Amino acid sequence: MPAINKYLVVVDLGGTKILSAVLDKQTQIVSIAKKPTRSKNKNEPVTNRITDVIEESISSANLSLEDIDGIVLGIPGSLNPETKIVNLAPNLGWKNFDITKNLQKHFNKEIIIENDANLGTLGIYHFETKGKCKNLIAIFVGTGIGAGIIIDSKIYRGKNFSAGEIGHIKINENGYKCGCGKYGCLESEASRTAITRMVNEQIKKGKKTIITKLTDNTKLIKSSILKEAIKKKDKVAINSVKYAAEKLGVITGNLINTFDFDCVFFAGGVMEAIGNFMLPIIKKKAKETALKSNFKNTKIILSTLKDEAAIFGGFALYKSS
Ligand SMILES: [Zn+2]
Repeated sequence: MPAINKYLVVVDLGGTKILSAVLDKQTQIVSIAKKPTRSKNKNEPVTNRITDVIEESISSANLSLEDIDGIVLGIPGSLNPETKIVNLAPNLGWKNFDITKNLQKHFNKEIIIENDANLGTLGIYHFETKGKCKNLIAIFVGTGIGAGIIIDSKIYRGKNFSAGEIGHIKINENGYKCGCGKYGCLESEASRTAITRMVNEQIKKGKKTIITKLTDNTKLIKSSILKEAIKKKDKVAINSVKYAAEKLGVITGNLINTFDFDCVFFAGGVMEAIGNFMLPIIKKKAKETALKSNFKNTKIILSTLKDEAAIFGGFALYKSS
């Protein structure tokens, strides 16, 4: 079991940004460094940027590599934490990729990899519920939709380490094409990408919306813009977000029926911005969908953790692995 005697580095590798945090053994975050995932120089490998961000976070904490016990990487994709091979990370263009090889050579430290949603879920489990919600799912709604599942206090990974892909549960038989190639997935009906599509469809139909005044870019509408539009009672924004929340609610009800969870957490960029608007709709639909006895004792909660969920999750994982 790797010990944290000095400091730990946890990297949250997203499709848009790489975040590296240094934590001390009391779980205090002592520094954070960020960089966009994509370089202006297209030939620069993402691994070089990961190395740079890690080094930046260490030096901005006034530490050196000798002070670091190990590194945890949260990766948006399916991976095998034992062989440390990333099977597929579509946003990073990785397929059967050995992520740790170069990093190991460069840093010569213990390196642990984990799916980013699983890391976030571990963070919520250990630091938000303090280990009390022994059966939980954390649903992350952002550009896409992912989830991590904890059963009997342990992360449930599945046979191929790809459990929790709830973004690809089919919710609409006649739905839109999803990034996975199939149709009508939850992700293509309720993610920020889906909400953007619904807003644009209504604009095309000639509906007036304040969103076109709030932003020049309606290609991928930021969650903060949706928040502003909902605040101003914009019908186009409200209708689109309501539709997404209803679909999330139906899936939540089905998940409660299947797993009989103690808690269902909602997190991610969309939830951080407009979760207060979406949660009552999600709860209402979940209640309609779930069996009464299953629903009664399940808490549906908006997570208070943001980026730090994955960071704290990395800390918990390193300590227990
Ligand atoms: Zn899909």
